[in-house]
Order: sequence, then structure tokens, then C-alpha cells
Amino acid sequence: MRELEERIKRDGIVKAGNVLKVDAFLNHQCDVALFDRMGAEWAREFDGLGVNKIMTIEASGIGIACVAARHFGDVPVVFAKKAQSVNLDGEQYCSTIYSFTKQREYPVIVGKRFLGSGDRILIIDDFLANGCALEGLIDLCGQAGAEVVGIGIAIEKAHQGGGDRLRAKGYRVESLARIAGMDDGSGEIEFL
Ligand code: 5GP
Repeated sequence: MRELEERIKRDGIVKAGNVLKVDAFLNHQCDVALFDRMGAEWAREFDGLGVNKIMTIEASGIGIACVAARHFGDVPVVFAKKAQSVNLDGEQYCSTIYSFTKQREYPVIVGKRFLGSGDRILIIDDFLANGCALEGLIDLCGQAGAEVVGIGIAIEKAHQGGGDRLRAKGYRVESLARIAGMDDGSGEIEFL
């Protein structure tokens, strides 16, 4: 999506440690009109797959997923919560995710009421790096017997390989901007 690439070039900041900051329009301040055009793009790419629910993870995925849902017939959006501890009351599916940005593991949960067999899930998230966040969400869907029919990503850092690993497993991953590399010295960002 050319518009997203242009926006990343204009407002994105490359930080040390291979981190791209996009707080100006995606992760802190939200450009809702841009989110809407991103949602339209995903709707075009995932047309005809019978998506009946969108899944994401808090916090930054929620805004883009909710706006995207308007393009999928207002399907519900369920977001995995980052939990402090695992509540073993049996009401929730639970998985563990390793955070690329925080460099630590944390549990994620979703209520069993909100995910089930028969669900055709489109996962949406802001970033795809090593793919750990998505693997956690896929695991939650698997526990519920829900089918992941597609994965829509705003920014894929393709050089980290997570996207290709998921594609090799057969998942349909559509990223609106794919970064081939970035340099925190010059601030340059190269797209695929
Ligand atoms: P992964 O699990 O694929 O390694 O990383 C995905 C998650 O880490 C995303 O949900 C996002 O929150 C965060 N993340 C990974 N790389 C970046 C980055 O360069 N910039 C920002 N803002 N978040 C990132």
C-alpha cells in the first residue's frame, strides 16, 4: 500500500535495535482515515473467505482491527489480553508470547465465550517481526477449534523472517507495507 509506505517514510523513526517507531499515526496518535483505507485494502485482499470475526492483541491492534471490521460487515473484534498471571478457572484459553520490543515472555488470554469452533478468523495486527505474537494468537485459535483464514498486517519487517515462516506453514499473510531493511544511523527505510 503505497500510501502507508509514504507515511512510514515521512513519519516513521528508526530506533536502535531494529525498532520502527510509528507513534505519529499508528501506535500512539491514530490516523483513523488511514486506518479506514487500510481496512478497505484488507477487505479487498480477504474477500470471499467468510470471515466472521477479527482477532487482534492489545493494545495497538485494537484500533486498526475495529476500523477494519467496518469493511467486513461489522463482524465482532476480539482482542487477546496481556495478562499479569494466568487465571486457571477454565474460562479462558491461554498462550505465551515472547515480546520482541520488551524482550520478555508474557501470558495472553481470551475468554472461551468469544472464540469457538466454526469461527473463521482474520487476525489483524500492527507489526509482524519474528512472528511470536501471531503464533500466540494462532495457538489460541487452535485451542478453540477456530480456523485462521487470513492474517492482515500493517507493517511487516520482512527481514526478520516471521512472515515467511508463517507463509511456509500455509497461512495467508497480507502485509500492507513490507520493510526489507532499515538503518538507525541514516534513518533510511527500504521497502520490498
Ligand atoms: P513479533 O512477535 O512478530 O516478533 O513482533 C510483533 C509485535 O511486536 C507487534 O505486535 C508489535 O507490537 C511489536 N513490534 C515488533 N517490532 C516492532 C517495531 O519495530 N516497532 C513497533 N512499534 N512495534 C514492534
